[in-house]
Amino acid sequence: MTAPRKPELHIVLCSPRGFCAGVVRAIDTVERALKLYGPPVYVRHEIVHNRHVVESLRTKGAIFVEELDEIPDTDAPVVFSAHGVPKSIPAEAERRNFFALDATCPLVTKVHREAEIHFKRGREIAMIGHAGHPEVVGTLGQLPPGAVILIETVEQAKKFQPNDASKLAFVTQTTLSIDDTAAIVATLKARFPDIIGPHKEDICYATTNRQLAVKKVAPVVDAMIVVGSPNSSNSQRLREVAEHEGCPRAVLVNGAADLDWSMFEGVSRLGITAGASAPEVLVEEILDAFAEKYTLRVDSVSAASEDGIFFPLPRPLRPATAAE
Ligand code: SF4
Repeated sequence: MTAPRKPELHIVLCSPRGFCAGVVRAIDTVERALKLYGPPVYVRHEIVHNRHVVESLRTKGAIFVEELDEIPDTDAPVVFSAHGVPKSIPAEAERRNFFALDATCPLVTKVHREAEIHFKRGREIAMIGHAGHPEVVGTLGQLPPGAVILIETVEQAKKFQPNDASKLAFVTQTTLSIDDTAAIVATLKARFPDIIGPHKEDICYATTNRQLAVKKVAPVVDAMIVVGSPNSSNSQRLREVAEHEGCPRAVLVNGAADLDWSMFEGVSRLGITAGASAPEVLVEEILDAFAEKYTLRVDSVSAASEDGIFFPLPRPLRPATAAE
């Protein structure tokens, strides 16, 4: 007896997807610290917002805490996550003589510096971002309380009343929707023509490229899977972008175990992408799960190349060179 023929499914992989240079650097920071100094390595907050990554580092000896007061007095390294931290955190780490390693993505640090420069120049600062996200908490925490006003929506941008519209600047979270942010920036610029900001916004290359790839694929597939954790901002935005671009069904999943197979009934073309903190192995597991049920044809659609983008490790972890 021959096995019944499996239905056909055309999978379109979005490229780029998955890990960005900031996430690679953050994970490498913890792994290299574990290798050089041995466990434990303390990590304040999830190093990147991905359950698989966090669990895998935990098995290697990383201990995740939310606040420094959960860490006993220790010589072990204490790593700050890729999202960045308020200034009070390195100050507290120094007071407690911790060996701190800062895995803040350099593109987040760039936003911190922008905010500081605006503040030094006497500008009132609006930050476009999501309340409570650790990156936003970190950026607001670069300056005294009240120095940065958070704006989350176009409605808030319409109502925002600065003290002096001629001394106004804006910065943004790095992982926002490019379209939603453009609408908020346009509202601010229309109301306050003198507002100073980055050339476009502070949304990073990785967030931008992953959204551009989803924009290309979403209109030509029946469903889109975004691999990522629910607390990952850039992954959530990818799901929203897929929906906005007309994809009838878009879902965010941690991995293959989360797949609701009823969602794919009648689907003949399926898009797959992954947030910047999601490892490619999770995409491969999903492909394997589909291959058990379907005869697959797999294509890739690319929106940008990220070849050669690389951020060096924090200085204490860099391999010694002859010159050093
Ligand atoms: Fe850095 Fe962007 Fe990656 Fe965040 S998503 S870690 S800002 S490159």
